[in-house]
Amino acid sequence: MKVIDMHCDTICELLAAKEQGREISLRENDLMVDLKKLRKGGYIEQNFALFVEKKEGESPFARVKKMLAVFKEQMEANEGQITQVEATEDILRNEAEGRLSALLTVEEGGVCEGKLDNLHYLYEQGVRMMTLTWNFPNELGYPNYSIQRDFYTPDTENGLTEIGIRFVQEMEKIGMIVDVSHLSDAGFYDVLRYTKRPFVASHSNARAICPWVRNLTDDMIRRLAERGGVTGLNYCADFLRDHPLDEQERVGRRPKEGGYASLKDIAKHARHMADIGGIDCVGLGSDFDGIPPHPELSGADGIPKLAAEFARYGFHESEIDKILYQNVFRVYREILG
Ligand SMILES: [Zn+2]
Repeated sequence: MKVIDMHCDTICELLAAKEQGREISLRENDLMVDLKKLRKGGYIEQNFALFVEKKEGESPFARVKKMLAVFKEQMEANEGQITQVEATEDILRNEAEGRLSALLTVEEGGVCEGKLDNLHYLYEQGVRMMTLTWNFPNELGYPNYSIQRDFYTPDTENGLTEIGIRFVQEMEKIGMIVDVSHLSDAGFYDVLRYTKRPFVASHSNARAICPWVRNLTDDMIRRLAERGGVTGLNYCADFLRDHPLDEQERVGRRPKEGGYASLKDIAKHARHMADIGGIDCVGLGSDFDGIPPHPELSGADGIPKLAAEFARYGFHESEIDKILYQNVFRVYREILG
């Protein structure tokens, strides 16, 4: 069994702890992702997102550089166990030599502050995937959910900005994967219109199964698949299973403890995505360390349980391999080389 995961927020947790005067190591910790758990889970590669929540009075670019320093520090401290990668040959070499691979990504395109120079800087640091927006509008485009909106009404009007269009085209040119998770519906279709190569939704589920706007509609899944892209199954309960909310809860609600989601819910989304877009468009995007704990999947070491659930749900072994790593690896090969 091999595993590749497109999204976790572990580095953000490490920086937050550091700022509170606590040192947490990637090697072993109480978070959802550490090297021990990755090994137990069968991983060959994990994406580590530099996630920046934009705040008044702080430069997002300065913030992302701080987080980058934490990532580099951890790579150095755990040399021999995990190595940063930029292309598929690096992943294969690490695997052959018994090391894990770490691919650097950015969640929140606003960290570039609208400047292509900053995008190029991040590329030079090894960033190979960027989530264009988080939950705020930024220089590049509009999110599907923001604090002004509810969780059920997609934004079909505000997509990419002129700068955003230039960015996705530049990302294609330099070989950085465009990630449309969090992006508005209009933004998704703009990415489709202004790019030619495969892109991903690194951590988004199916809206037909759970109607939150963070998930993809059937049409989006179909078009992403036609383009050769992949969507990563997200283990956040809110994006897995719908549950009744009263009117007040519909606006401004924060994710609760994830007590009501099961492994079967994840398999259900995988089944639907495969039925709509084909098995080649389904991957993993855990969102570990960015979500409340999933009751049946508390960390990276639990992936064998998820694989067993896929098998129980009727997926063949070859299909499970596609979901666990092959589909994402294919996109990496195409875009990163
Ligand atoms: Zn996210």
